[in-house]
Formats: sequence, C-alpha cells, structure tokens
Amino acid sequence: MTVPETLHARVARLNEALASASPAAVIEKAMEAVPAGRLAVVSSFGTESAVLLKFVADVDPGLPVLFLDTGMLFEETLDYRDRLVDFFGLTDVRSLKPQIELLERRDPHRDLWLRDTESCCHIRKVRPLSDALGGFDGWMNGRKRFQGGARAAIAHAETDGQLLKFNPLAALSQNDIAAVFETAGLPRHPLEKMGFSSVGCMPCTSRTRPGEAPRAGRWRNTGRSECGIHRIGLPAGAGCGC
Ligand code: SF4
Repeated sequence: MTVPETLHARVARLNEALASASPAAVIEKAMEAVPAGRLAVVSSFGTESAVLLKFVADVDPGLPVLFLDTGMLFEETLDYRDRLVDFFGLTDVRSLKPQIELLERRDPHRDLWLRDTESCCHIRKVRPLSDALGGFDGWMNGRKRFQGGARAAIAHAETDGQLLKFNPLAALSQNDIAAVFETAGLPRHPLEKMGFSSVGCMPCTSRTRPGEAPRAGRWRNTGRSECGIHRIGLPAGAGCGC
C-alpha cells in the first residue's frame, strides 16, 4: 500500500524545486500542485498588489481572487480594485465581507479597532477569509521577504497543515517590484503618491516617513505588524472567540 505524502513533505519537495524560481514558475507550480478550481489568490489591492495580479493574469485571469472588504477601507482602494479588475481582465474577484451579526454584536459603533485591533481584524479579516478558504485546497499571496518582520524568511511554499500556501513574490526585492510596475505599465495605488507605502484599513494606516520600513505605517505604535490572516489554520491564539 502506498502511504500518502504528508502536506509538510509536499511543501519540502515543492521548495526544493522552487528554490530559485521566478514568480511565474511558482504560480505554474501552484496550479500543478492544486486541483483546478481549488486554488485562490488573496489580494488586498494595496500598493504592490498589481504585481502578483499581473503574474496571475498572465497565466489565468479567471483564477478566483479573494479580497477582504472590511468596511473600513479607503475609497481609493475600492476604486483601485475596480481599476485593476478592468486592467487585467480579472473575471472572478470575490469581495469578502464580515458577518453582519458579528459586527452588530461585537462592534456596533465601529470603534473596536480603538480598543482591540486583534478582535477587529479577526472579525473583519481572519474569519471571512478562513470561511472562504474552506472552499479551496491552496492559496497564493503577495508577501515579500524584503518587507521584514515575520515575512523576512518566508519560503515559496508553506502549509498550515490543511492548505498549501504559495508566496510567488517571496524572493523579489523592492527594485524588482518597481521594475515590474515600470516594464508592465501597471497602474499605481492612488494613495502611494500621498506618502502611503502600504495601505490597509483607514483607521490603522498612516503615512510612512523617509527611511522607515514599508509597513511601518500599519498599526503604528501598537506593536502589531500583521492582521492574522497568515496564521489561519495554525494552532495559535489568533482568534477573538467570535
Ligand atoms: S486593520 Fe484596523 S480597522 Fe482593519 S480590521 Fe484590523 S483593526 Fe480593524
């Protein structure tokens, strides 16, 4: 009897094959590794999102793209999402919203972010994405090692024990990202020219100052640097119990 390969063994094998792979090669490998219709892309439609979406659209503009519409985003991000959908001809962008019942119960005045950003992110981001990913076997996202923090050592492939996760842009530098924008003529997020190098929800995003890390303006002065979606499936105390 053949013993099925564990997800962790698959990830190790994938990373061996993808050690110096280009973003396109990582995406192609992800499409080989995950059955058709079971692979999603997660995008924030933030300042660098166009790069991953370009590589995805080059291969298949019909891949499902999951977008967390938290209800707290900048109007500019929603406009940029619509612009990129047209620009790349994306045909399956799904806007995920928080459960209304949860919002009414846990955040009736829309001020939870002031008291408890972890719970706010859980209701608005982690929970909706976790629910949506139940319909998939793998997903891709746009994290890069140069962003630092928990991202500094990410591999091209990972697993939370249930799903495969691919990071096609992991090895790109900031200059590589700029070069893709330039050569492909990609539209820029409208807030970038106003000093926002990374854009998330309005209450938790501030401009970055010269010399700061690209994500320094996110959750400034809170000690947080991630919303928790990259801990989905992991046995961590990531949730708020909702
Ligand atoms: S980024 Fe801020 S507003 Fe958005 S979900 Fe997290 S805590 Fe809430």
